[in-house]
Amino acid sequence: MSQHIINTRSPEETEQIAQAIASQLKGGEVIELASDLGGGKTTFTRGLVAGLGSDEAVASPTFTINREYSKGRLYVHHFDFYRLDDAGTIADELAEVIGDPTAVVVVEWAEVVQHVLPEKHVRIQIIPTDEFGRKLQFTYPEELDYLVKGL
Ligand code: ADP
Ligand code: MG
Repeated sequence: MSQHIINTRSPEETEQIAQAIASQLKGGEVIELASDLGGGKTTFTRGLVAGLGSDEAVASPTFTINREYSKGRLYVHHFDFYRLDDAGTIADELAEVIGDPTAVVVVEWAEVVQHVLPEKHVRIQIIPTDEFGRKLQFTYPEELDYLVKGL
């Protein structure tokens, strides 16, 4: 596993970084976003969707668990397992879209679905450094290093 760390100073900058990553996506990638509540996982996803060329509004999928954005270059399946102790049938839905070459899968609070995530995925841990500062810590297998190359 490789690591890459990027510091951002605002939500806008976090979105820009996500947009840059979006431009490298080929389809079939799985991105796990990890942080405490308010860390910036959904903000990152917003940039990713925009970077794929969609103007859809990205909201937190909490309560609906799964949202799909379909207007960009690739589909984005956005899952959020916040406060779920058991992913239930949503784990099956997640398993179904993983590996779809026309889609990117983004998962927040993925602890309960670790067994479903492919080994080959990017994990982005977001650590607040102050009110608007965030450290983005990427962990990824060598095959996915094209995602962070331009950063
Ligand atoms: P999560 O999905 O991790 O709970 P959200 O993206 O919904 O987090 O919320 C992040 C909050 O933190 C937003 O209110 C956002 O404006 C704020 N924020 C402040 N600085 C940053 C930053 N550098 N990157 C991302 N979000 C930031
Ligand atoms: Mg969120």
